[in-house]
Amino acid sequence: MKLASVPREIEQRDAADPLRHLRARFHLPQGRVYLAGNSLGPAPIAAFEEVDTALRKEWAEGLVGSWNEANWFTLTDELGDRIGALIGAAKGQTVACDSTSINVYKALQAGLSLRPGRTTVVAESASFPTDLYVAEGVVAGHPDVELLLEGVDGPRIEDLIDERTAVVLVNHVDYKTGELRDMAALTRRIHEAGAIAVWDLCHSAGVIEVLLDEAEADFAVGCTYKYLNCGPGSPAFIYAAARHHTTMRQPLSGWWGHAAPFAFETGYRPDSGARRLLCGTQPILSLRALGAGLSAIEDVDMADIRAKSLALTGLFMDLVEDACRAHGATIVTPRKEAARGSHVSITFADGYAVVQALIARGIIGDFRAPDMMRFGFAPAYLSFADTYQAATAFIDVLTSGSWRDPRYSRKRAVT
Ligand SMILES: *Cc1c(COP(=O)(O)O)cnc(C)c1O
Repeated sequence: MKLASVPREIEQRDAADPLRHLRARFHLPQGRVYLAGNSLGPAPIAAFEEVDTALRKEWAEGLVGSWNEANWFTLTDELGDRIGALIGAAKGQTVACDSTSINVYKALQAGLSLRPGRTTVVAESASFPTDLYVAEGVVAGHPDVELLLEGVDGPRIEDLIDERTAVVLVNHVDYKTGELRDMAALTRRIHEAGAIAVWDLCHSAGVIEVLLDEAEADFAVGCTYKYLNCGPGSPAFIYAAARHHTTMRQPLSGWWGHAAPFAFETGYRPDSGARRLLCGTQPILSLRALGAGLSAIEDVDMADIRAKSLALTGLFMDLVEDACRAHGATIVTPRKEAARGSHVSITFADGYAVVQALIARGIIGDFRAPDMMRFGFAPAYLSFADTYQAATAFIDVLTSGSWRDPRYSRKRAVT
């Protein structure tokens, strides 16, 4: 499908974009506008060589010696520090490992270990479900602790935080609406109650200026396959503020978190730093791809990324808002910049079919049940022209009703 031609003022915005050189660092299939980078980022070109080297040279030739020669054993820390630099964390507090779900488990348990005797964990009912499912599992193992949910036990998360609260698990950006929380203010409120703040950065790492140390966050987790473009199922990260390192405990006490893993002692003795959040052997090939993903954005200023993200989401909303109003679709993402993440969500009863009709035209967004269309704007590889073309196609699909074609309503396993 042919994409719309782009007006001159949009071309001028691209010409003036200080990040426009980043696009060449990604493999972007022809004829598509990729607005699903908030779900799975595209392949950074550097990843091809990086993984090839890890396979052919380090694994095939270097064999077991590569644990030392290629520094495989400390990739978790080295990459953790590089992720840390993108999320406002000084060195030594972030490790790359496991999945976000597993890291939520470790962070909640570590938080509970720091607040014995307290009886509630607070989270958001609108949270990405895995965070809630894991919180449920954690609480099930602590008979004296109860899970309280914003939206179920009270309207606002702030109202659920009191002297009983051990840990608050909160999403920096809501995966559905794209709403951004004020990390510093909420962390302050959590600390006033004497509780521990665990931030989920899945939808903010790599696209928003996250300032973990400055906000005095206690723990943070996040995935690297969304805006960090590190590959399908790439290892996640976990951050723990240095002040907690020697006191926090987490029950996945595997040998990688031991103070002396190669002493093979009988008893567990945790590492004195962030490594005590590790459990066991990590997927090295995936960690190598992770490094390539980071290298595609780590030399630019996160403030520039954030500014462009706001400009792209703002442009998209400006362009589609009249058509949305005319056809009964609702933009649910906040217009206020301080409250906006990097995707635009629009509710529409037949949103699934609209997204499928757009995909057929090369505009790749996604859909979250029951009625939400999501369009992610990743400043590293998307242009203002892409945004204009996506908006034009969206308006056309809504206005023409082409989404009504029955083939766009057929449901697939991953939406
Ligand atoms: C994407 C996402 C996850 C993913 O968890 P996995 O363990 O990688 O499957 C978790 N939490 C949030 C908020 C997410 O957006």
